[in-house]
Amino acid sequence: MPYRSVNPATGEVIATFANHTDAELQEALAIAHSLFLSDWSRGPRQRRLELLSRVADVLDGRLEELAGILTEEMGKRITEARAEVRLSAEILRFYAKNGAAFLAPEQIRSPAGDVWVEYHPLGVLVAVEPWNFPYYQLARVAGPNVAIGNPVLAKHASIVPRSAVAFETAMLDGGAPQGTWTNMFASGEQVARLIEDDRVQGVTLTGSEKAGSIVAAQAGKFLKKSVMELGGADVFAVLDDADLVEAVAAGAEARLTGAGQVCNGAKRFLVHEKVAATFLENFTRIFANTKVGDPRDESVGLGPLCSVQARDDLAAQVTRAVTAGATLHFGGRAIEGPGAFLQPTILTNITRDNPAYFEEFFGPVAQVYVVRDDEELIALANDSHFGLSSAIFTANIERAKALASRIETGSVWINRRSSTAPELPFGGVKRSGYGRELSKFGIKEWVNQKMVVVANE
Ligand code: NAP
Repeated sequence: MPYRSVNPATGEVIATFANHTDAELQEALAIAHSLFLSDWSRGPRQRRLELLSRVADVLDGRLEELAGILTEEMGKRITEARAEVRLSAEILRFYAKNGAAFLAPEQIRSPAGDVWVEYHPLGVLVAVEPWNFPYYQLARVAGPNVAIGNPVLAKHASIVPRSAVAFETAMLDGGAPQGTWTNMFASGEQVARLIEDDRVQGVTLTGSEKAGSIVAAQAGKFLKKSVMELGGADVFAVLDDADLVEAVAAGAEARLTGAGQVCNGAKRFLVHEKVAATFLENFTRIFANTKVGDPRDESVGLGPLCSVQARDDLAAQVTRAVTAGATLHFGGRAIEGPGAFLQPTILTNITRDNPAYFEEFFGPVAQVYVVRDDEELIALANDSHFGLSSAIFTANIERAKALASRIETGSVWINRRSSTAPELPFGGVKRSGYGRELSKFGIKEWVNQKMVVVANE
């Protein structure tokens, strides 16, 4: 794919970037690997943690500039873009503050003797990242790996090259040694060849199942560690005793944030039959009143999708769902004129034989299902190829906890929409991928957990 920055609100081409040549990538790999062999990666941790703090300050100091790039390049609403820049800085600060504790040696009680586990860097990693959170996704990788000492070669999505460069620049301006974080304008084949190289020790990918399975297969072939953060069709359950005002507002926000292009956004709304009519009426009212338009305008509730192609693909997916028997309850059409705008959309009456039942709709399209009871809710929730996150709204926390333990998913939020924070582990099961990012769990994915035994006399 050519690396091209196009404003999805207007169609204007802002910039294009040439792919890096194989020779340039080899040079980048050599620099990253020599950094790994140096005292920077293997020596005292403190200066790497200080780097993270400085880069966080750089991000905060460039808030408006960096947020503006997101809005221009992938159509993120400006308030969400600012929040993403702040969150990215928070992630780096979180690892700056906690990295030493997370990576401190851990004692193990054993009759074998004095035993502990030390955490060491693994080597150069490749990160393949998506366009929907252009800085946050990079920060999820940079925070732990700078703390550990793993140099990263980062391949960002081809539609967000300016964000990719802006993040790399922030790292360098914060004082990162060459090779700590290297942006690559690389093709899929070039990524495959890097994974093959003995100097690369692992690959992390956030993106679609298709890209995930290609990259994970390559990692498997060459016995490299991999973490996959893939798609989701997250459940948003509304029980019969839920505070409906809260649930409706949170549900609409959960579906429309990021123009619906959020992996852990609510996608399947499972609503108890006693409250289904009221929920749907009020939910639809919010969709109908959402102002669609220029993502720079703070009063706008829904900006464009990331590209006209993505919008057209999603509109076609909605049409297929309706042809297969679903009811188009609201919206569903591309908005005419320049830009990648789609009406916020609600589908109902989706039966199991409809392809939409198992699909992820990566945009502002809600699937609403009516359930009779908690048993039907669990059966429907788990009848999915995905398992990334989920939310349950109810007045009965014990009931929610019991349901939470039965949903096959990476996380459950009770009475709040699914979200993210530096200290919370993020990741899924089933085709949503494997491994975790963020938190103390995410940092442990990328260390050599080296055990040392001093034998008893
Ligand atoms: P995508 O097509 O898989 O792209 C993601 C990244 O993979 C991009 O950098 C893309 O590069 C790269 N890529 C694609 N094919 C590749 C290959 N054969 N080899 C190496 N790299 C390859 O995903 P998307 O459609 O843009 O993103 C949306 C998907 O990501 C959704 O399914 C969403 O749920 C998921 N997602 C998951 C999470 C999570 O944390 N679980 C977070 C965000 C998004 P190009 O742009 O150059 O093709």
